[in-house]
Amino acid sequence: MVFAPAMQKTAPETGLSEAYDVVVIGGGFSGASFLLHLVRHLGGRGSIAIIEPREDLGRGVAYSTSDPAHRINTFASRMTVFPDDRLHFDRWVRESGAVEGDPAAMLPDGRMVPQRAVFGTYVGQQLRHAIEVSGVRVDHIRSQASAMMAVHDGWHVLTEGGRVLSASSAVIAASHQPPEIPQSLEPAAADPRFISDPWRETALAAVHPQDDVIIVGTGLTMADIVASLDGRGHRGRIHAISRRGLLSRGQSESERIQFGDFAESPSRTARQLVRRIRTTLREADRAGLGWHPVFHAVGRDATPIWAALDNAERVRLLRHLRPYWDVHRFRIAPQVEGAVRRGLQSGRLSVTAASILGAEMGERIKLDLRLRRSGKFAIAGGDKIILATGVGQNRVFETSALLQGLKESGRARPDSLRLGIDVNARSQALRANGEPNENLYVAGPLARAFFGELMGANQILNHAHDLARSIASRIS
Ligand SMILES: Cc1cc2nc3c(=O)[nH]c(=O)nc-3n(C[C@H](O)[C@H](O)[C@H](O)COP(=O)(O)OP(=O)(O)OC[C@H]3O[C@@H](n4cnc5c(N)ncnc54)[C@H](O)[C@@H]3O)c2cc1C
Repeated sequence: MVFAPAMQKTAPETGLSEAYDVVVIGGGFSGASFLLHLVRHLGGRGSIAIIEPREDLGRGVAYSTSDPAHRINTFASRMTVFPDDRLHFDRWVRESGAVEGDPAAMLPDGRMVPQRAVFGTYVGQQLRHAIEVSGVRVDHIRSQASAMMAVHDGWHVLTEGGRVLSASSAVIAASHQPPEIPQSLEPAAADPRFISDPWRETALAAVHPQDDVIIVGTGLTMADIVASLDGRGHRGRIHAISRRGLLSRGQSESERIQFGDFAESPSRTARQLVRRIRTTLREADRAGLGWHPVFHAVGRDATPIWAALDNAERVRLLRHLRPYWDVHRFRIAPQVEGAVRRGLQSGRLSVTAASILGAEMGERIKLDLRLRRSGKFAIAGGDKIILATGVGQNRVFETSALLQGLKESGRARPDSLRLGIDVNARSQALRANGEPNENLYVAGPLARAFFGELMGANQILNHAHDLARSIASRIS
């Protein structure tokens, strides 16, 4: 069993390093949870390479942050790496002492909301343990995969470090791109006062306590930034702007209650679905339940809901409903919600629904806005701009040399909704002609155009688990 960064190994003269059964590209939550279940299903057989530049597997974009203000956006009891043991992470947190020194992690009612880094540590630890007990050989190659070539019995994967790995199956789990800079802000992009990647570890280092900050985006990332600034003693004003000005909602008291059934004869159009959700919301209200249980039920039934819609209806759903869905479905931790509420109540944080028309990076930054409700023009002024529009969604192929190469060779294509890679029900990437690649798979959010909801850790886990079982069954 080998489980060590293998980047420093020199490639042999032939240019080919050892052959593996499976190469996994990307070691964030998707790649790590897939790998964890693959080794568990392999029964000691096989060899696997995972290519991931980060030192730790399992963290990726979401769980690499060391900012203590960044918390998981649900309760520990709702996140795990074992689909058949939903309370595993909660138990691990309580038993491992992982939140000692962080009293805010425990809510007054006893529920736990740890920092995101704690979840990353948990995933990494469970993965290491699974590898150790499995006896399967796993090499962590600390590099980027830059190109892939189909060969007669699998794939050759080229890393930026110059290694060529060969494997009979490849799994792409390289999901999130940094936020995309809107066209109206492109003139500001090169200015050091424009912080375009809020997930960079040092992203907020340049923000002085008295700076007025403009945040572009009003969802989860904005809430994280407000909580981080709050924790750093920031005293300036914060002006958050998005087209609709929608804020991510908080958690409910009764996380486990679900109300409504959307899987039985699922709606065939976006309009029917909205009507059905509205009717269910009214019924839930009459029953004194509020909206959370309805959204839990929609989330539970997301796969049949998505499967019942044709492409045009999916486009409609994404265009008109996604912003509303996102703020209700991906809620914020109570501690983060508290920071946002304090900001709003004190008047230090303001939220505006407006389109950004342009930016002037003079002595003070000025953004030209058109307000959503009145249509009037306005100006937002500040000392720093932070882009918080969420993960880049629309240019996944354009921003990845690996995917661009696969597209050019006809081996993969963007899905028609431009959410990621076109796959079939077995998560096999489809070629330009629509035929599946027998041994090229996609794990995690890049496959979500086919599966619908594949963004929260639980959906990613279930998908990774099923994919691991299916691939393991093909390795002799
Ligand atoms: C900020 C944030 C917070 C979230 N918080 C929660 C939460 O609290 N609860 C919840 O349920 N869900 C949460 N989510 C959603 C979900 O957990 C994440 O979307 C999930 O972690 C996605 O993991 P991933 O591995 O697919 O993607 P990523 O995190 O993007 O990981 C992909 C990895 O691939 C690597 N990579 C990329 N390209 C290459 C390449 N060419 N070669 C090799 N490696 C490559 C990257 O270095 C990266 O580590 C959050 C998402 C975000 C963005």
